[in-house]
Amino acid sequence: MRRFLPRLTPAARIAIGLISLIVTLLLIIDIALNLVPDRTEMQRKIRESTSERLAVHMSSLIQMQEWDALKHTMRDVIARDKDKELLSLAIRQKNGQILVATGDHLRYWVPPALGKSTLTHVRVPIYAKGDFWGDVEISYTPVTPQTLKGWLQTPLVALVLVVIPAGFLAFYLYMRRTLQYLDPSAAIPDRVREAFDALTEGVTVIDNTGRVMLYNKAFHQLHPFAEADMIGQNLSQIPWLAGASDTPETPWEYTQQHRTQAKAQLFTISRAGESSVEVIVKASPIQDAKGKQRGCMVTFYDVTELHHANEKMRRALDALETSREEIEKKNIDLLYLATRDSLTGCLNRRAFFAATEPLFGKLTLEARDMSCIMADIDFFKNVNDTYGHTVGDQVIVAVTRILTERLCGHDLLCRMGGEEFCIMLPGASEDSAMDLAEQLRTSVEHLAGNGISSAKALQITSSFGVSSLKSGASSVSELIELADFALYTSKQSGRNRATLWSENLNSPSIDPSLSNAVARNPG
Ligand code: GH3
Ligand code: MG
Ligand code: MG
Repeated sequence: MRRFLPRLTPAARIAIGLISLIVTLLLIIDIALNLVPDRTEMQRKIRESTSERLAVHMSSLIQMQEWDALKHTMRDVIARDKDKELLSLAIRQKNGQILVATGDHLRYWVPPALGKSTLTHVRVPIYAKGDFWGDVEISYTPVTPQTLKGWLQTPLVALVLVVIPAGFLAFYLYMRRTLQYLDPSAAIPDRVREAFDALTEGVTVIDNTGRVMLYNKAFHQLHPFAEADMIGQNLSQIPWLAGASDTPETPWEYTQQHRTQAKAQLFTISRAGESSVEVIVKASPIQDAKGKQRGCMVTFYDVTELHHANEKMRRALDALETSREEIEKKNIDLLYLATRDSLTGCLNRRAFFAATEPLFGKLTLEARDMSCIMADIDFFKNVNDTYGHTVGDQVIVAVTRILTERLCGHDLLCRMGGEEFCIMLPGASEDSAMDLAEQLRTSVEHLAGNGISSAKALQITSSFGVSSLKSGASSVSELIELADFALYTSKQSGRNRATLWSENLNSPSIDPSLSNAVARNPG
């Protein structure tokens, strides 16, 4: 709403205020003291005495029957009326007949009600020898003005019409000159103001009460409503600025209270129908020569574009982070797929060798031990043949679970293929490896078959072969080979057993009676 009001300078506004005050005072004084004369009352008195005098003069002419002199006098009276207030005159006899008339009496004369004279129609009775003879009738112009010009000439209207423009002009010129001393913005030289306006930062100077003393063009342009004159307004109460920050104390309020520079705050100035403006607001105290605080200077640095660019960058970074996380997750999945066996989740051969070979080198260098266990499910082909491939898979998974549960954090388990597993035990001696192999064998024997719900009373056993660096193996493959040889020995020796490799192991001879047996729970 304020935007549509004409922009008046402070001087004009004060002049309007003063002149309104004076006119109001004049009217009140007039009502109270009757300063301006009452024109109607004056006219009434003048007309009363004029009429009386006329009537006396005419009645003497009538009594002397000087009819010509009477006519002449009546014409003279009309002609000499400078103010042209007398319209017509007539002598009316008591029988109602007009004896003499001047002016257009028939047109102007309106008999007053109840015969009582009015301001415009006066009737004065004439007596001859003590008897009522007739009347002098006088028509006057109306007392109240009948035209615009007449109205304009009435004293009060004329007074008001002269006082208002003349008074406004006088006050305006005076106030303009006076305000130059009071308005700091007007006191600033043009060149300084131009430099002040050339600043890209919005700057405003406020006094100790928070009222705006000065502001530059950039501050003015922060909001469309800022077009209104803001000198004298309280900065904290400028509506578009008051709602721009959600902090309880604005920087200028902080500076006013603590007399020091305030920390910068981010303001978001909303503008209806337009994009909002992001500004960094700072305030610093203004002190006089004696160090007394006189106000503070508040700066508004427009960072909208920077803010948008930051927002854009933040969104891009978020997107990048999300895709990085997704890629990382996919890489983990891929790594898992590339290094693990899909059925059991054990390391595959490639990953197993990739992990164990460096370990082999390190432990050999450090002259530490490492042991290897090879495990193979006994008569597994028969399980497949008897219960089907699915049950065979379940058996492989059940055996894997048992092997995994017994391993420590740094031990490595690999599915070498089919129903064959290899366990690498860094730091483990052949004795502890043999102990573990024995534990694993027992666990498989007692637990593996029980977990298969679709094949009741399934007896699963497995054979184990153990080797260690003590054997003098020169590589992981060689260590595995020796463990495999020991496993082979276990198979040949009747299965469901663990064998430690040694140079003395006999070359195994195949026992044909065992090769096709189905491992069943004896119970
Ligand atoms: P031994 O006691 O001498 O080890 O006898 P075995 O029957 O276990 O030995 P063999 O190597 O002859 O049989 C292994 C069978 O395992 C052959 C193959 O059909 C089966 N097999 C290999 N991979 C899988 C698999 O992923 N799932 C199933 N269900 N069977 C498999
Ligand atoms: Mg087997
Ligand atoms: Mg096998």
